[in-house]
Amino acid sequence: METIFSRIVKKEIPAKIVYEDEEILAFHDITPKAPIHILLIPKKPIPTLDAAGPEDTLLLGGLLQQAAQIARDLGVAEEGYRLVINTNENGGQTVYHLHVHLLAGRPLGWPPG
Ligand code: 5GP
Repeated sequence: METIFSRIVKKEIPAKIVYEDEEILAFHDITPKAPIHILLIPKKPIPTLDAAGPEDTLLLGGLLQQAAQIARDLGVAEEGYRLVINTNENGGQTVYHLHVHLLAGRPLGWPPG
């Protein structure tokens, strides 16, 4: 299914890209919820975390590793950050292309809303 994120992968719509390789794209969220708000997505259009299978294990690990690397590159690893994968309706997912939110730059409340 076509989503706004698959159109970003195809470069049909612009995004502020911070990292790209053959499998992963990372770009700034259009409406940031923290001073740093990056989205990391697989280029492969997996709709939700629930739809990922065993064949996606390396890809999912790669998303987490790359998120940690971006946090280090942006200088926020030591002060801390949060990774979020909103999943389906109660999880607050709005774009049905699996993505990891990297949030940083301020203290993040817990529990989330
Ligand atoms: P979700 O609510 O599905 O976990 O997260 C979707 C995120 O995508 C939201 O934080 C939203 O601001 C972001 N978003 C939606 N449309 C666009 C867009 O066209 N470009 C970018 N860069 N981010 C988007």
